[in-house]
Amino acid sequence: MEQTLSIIKPDAVAKGVIGKIFDRFESNGLRIAATKKLQLSRIEAKNFYAVHKERPFFNDLVDFMISGPVVVSVLEGENAMQKNRDLMGATNPKEAKAGTIRADFAENIDANAVHGSDSLENADTEIAFFFASKDIS
Ligand code: ADP
Ligand code: MG
Repeated sequence: MEQTLSIIKPDAVAKGVIGKIFDRFESNGLRIAATKKLQLSRIEAKNFYAVHKERPFFNDLVDFMISGPVVVSVLEGENAMQKNRDLMGATNPKEAKAGTIRADFAENIDANAVHGSDSLENADTEIAFFFASKDIS
């Protein structure tokens, strides 16, 4: 069964919508195979988002991701990676379709509620960044 990594970002954790976002996953065929709440260090956030290090928004993104605790989860199901991306909606919440997580819970492109792996290869790397195989079930 396919697996992907989800992060509920600091804005959504602060708003108290962890449960509402988990419900989107579980109501749409994505099982939570592992989950934990944690505070990212600056180094961890920089390493996690290393693919974006040349982008103009990189420093703001890192600052935002360490501004409070996040919830990282392994989601499992058929087409889990793409299904999670579809449930998330567009990166900019103003462009996200009605009923998506970002349309419903995000304020702007910086504070956009959730992260989801964007390929199966990245999903494997991102899952390994946070979880040992023995803790995924
Ligand atoms: P996604 O999270 O939809 O996969 P990207 O991987 O392109 O989007 O970008 C990673 C994160 O960086 C986004 O979720 C968003 O928080 C931030 N970001 C992306 N593009 C911009 C931008 N133009 N301005 C500010 N922040 C951005
Ligand atoms: Mg991305």
